[in-house]
Amino acid sequence: MAIADTFGSALNGRSSERPDLVALSIPLEVTLPAVPSRGGEQFLRSLFEPLGYAVEATRLMLDERFPAWGDSQYYSLRLSITATLQSVLTHLYVLIPVLDNNKHYWVGDAEVDKLLRHGEPWLNAHPQRDVIVRRYLKFKRSLADRAIERLMEADGDESEAIEDESDGTGRAGGREQALEKSVSLNDRRIAIVKETVESTGASSVIDLGCGEGKLLRALLGLKGLTRITGVDVSHRVLEMAMDRLNMDRLPKAVADTLTLLHGSLMYRDARFEGYDAATIIEVIEHLDPPRLAAFESVVFKYARPKFVVLTTPNREYNVKFPTLPAGQFRHDDHRFEWTRAEFESWATRLAANHGYAVRFQPIGDEDPDLGAPTQMALFTQQ
Ligand code: SAH
Repeated sequence: MAIADTFGSALNGRSSERPDLVALSIPLEVTLPAVPSRGGEQFLRSLFEPLGYAVEATRLMLDERFPAWGDSQYYSLRLSITATLQSVLTHLYVLIPVLDNNKHYWVGDAEVDKLLRHGEPWLNAHPQRDVIVRRYLKFKRSLADRAIERLMEADGDESEAIEDESDGTGRAGGREQALEKSVSLNDRRIAIVKETVESTGASSVIDLGCGEGKLLRALLGLKGLTRITGVDVSHRVLEMAMDRLNMDRLPKAVADTLTLLHGSLMYRDARFEGYDAATIIEVIEHLDPPRLAAFESVVFKYARPKFVVLTTPNREYNVKFPTLPAGQFRHDDHRFEWTRAEFESWATRLAANHGYAVRFQPIGDEDPDLGAPTQMALFTQQ
């Protein structure tokens, strides 16, 4: 981003004052004082040498004061080449994120376009093409596949299968998704919550802990809703939501009804007030039990929507998931999962304390003894 911000016109090959310089190859030297490379010097060379660079890489110690600690994964890198400034910047623009292998931000569809725009002329012929694409797109497999397909449209060979190397969080999410897939529970949950919101006649809804915005997207299609807001504590998932909802491409009238807020359900927040309905879907089990009381006040005492639709897993049903070891939760980040009795007694007490009525509804295939995989409560202000 810094390259694009600082050298934007050079990166895009534009110069209003000296356009003739754009296509001129000049001797250039690039010094990167510290870049990570888990694959060592060899990996650095394999990225830059095929593009014609002379590469000088010096491994950095973990801490110069303590040589006994040994080497770090970082290198000081010096690259020399005679080429256009634009081509050098596009190489750096794509290859620095490839070296920085942290999965700390979300990569959306727009990144595929950027990669293709800056990588098109040289990437397809690069021997490390698939590694570069996969790493640039942070192992988001479907995006990487799509990008490689688009690159290959011209030469039509088969790409190797791309391993999914998602991080711990991804795998945990994967487990929950895989477990619940057999009943396509997620879709049914969204559909039932949407119907429930519709049945309340609400014209404004706030989705607390909206995650990637699956429910928000479904709510966008509901007539009669003039205000839809999503709240999440995680910046990363809000970015995913923005991407998923195509916020910048929605018709203005639709986009105007939708707001995403960064906020926490642990703190009273005036922005949560004034909605007809709140939805809290598969969120409470992510909260630490001692902090549930704070959440209860934030929603039922202060925000006080007329209706609250809340779902959480039914723990009794877990034995029906053959791949879930006994006693484990469906997701690594779940702090608890309740039986139907536990959920109903919590919700009944909560409703009574704050002047709401509550009724319960199972979601998903119901087992006569164990109940349904998801339990839902609808609270109505009295
Ligand atoms: N409602 C979504 C996401 C469920 S996952 C869906 O059904 O798909 C739980 C979400 O709650 C995550 O996105 C997480 O970031 C969010 N969350 C966890 N603790 C939170 C808090 N204290 N405040 C707001 N959001 C929180």
